[in-house]
Amino acid sequence: MSDVDEATRAKISEALVGRPKSAETRRRMSGGRAGEKNHRWEGGFSEGYGTGWGIVRRDAYERDEVCQICGEDGTSERLEVHHIVPVRLFAHSKDHEKTDAHLLANVVLLCVPCHVETERGDLPWYAPPDELPESIGEI
Ligand SMILES: [Zn+2]
Repeated sequence: MSDVDEATRAKISEALVGRPKSAETRRRMSGGRAGEKNHRWEGGFSEGYGTGWGIVRRDAYERDEVCQICGEDGTSERLEVHHIVPVRLFAHSKDHEKTDAHLLANVVLLCVPCHVETERGDLPWYAPPDELPESIGEI
């Protein structure tokens, strides 16, 4: 994985900055697809996550559409929204509320296997606290 490092860092910066959604993406999204109902379901993951989670989760599905590591589109594996800077870092920070983690710039859509590996630290979508982008730091 060592040759991935630079591309990986670029991907993280890109994700942290956020990408504007094209009109074409919007059009494709409005067509609907399998699992769309689940994306609108905002109740289940809220334990401990606070307000804003349901909204950013839905926005992440709309922005990314597929797993941002392997491209899985939700057909073979379930897709989940991953916090790049973990919620617990915000929760433990003196300057932040845990709900500050729920920014579109701080989440990325991953399939379950990639999410598991990412949480283990084996895949790139993890930013340590000193990589908190200024836009998040200023909140
Ligand atoms: Zn994946």
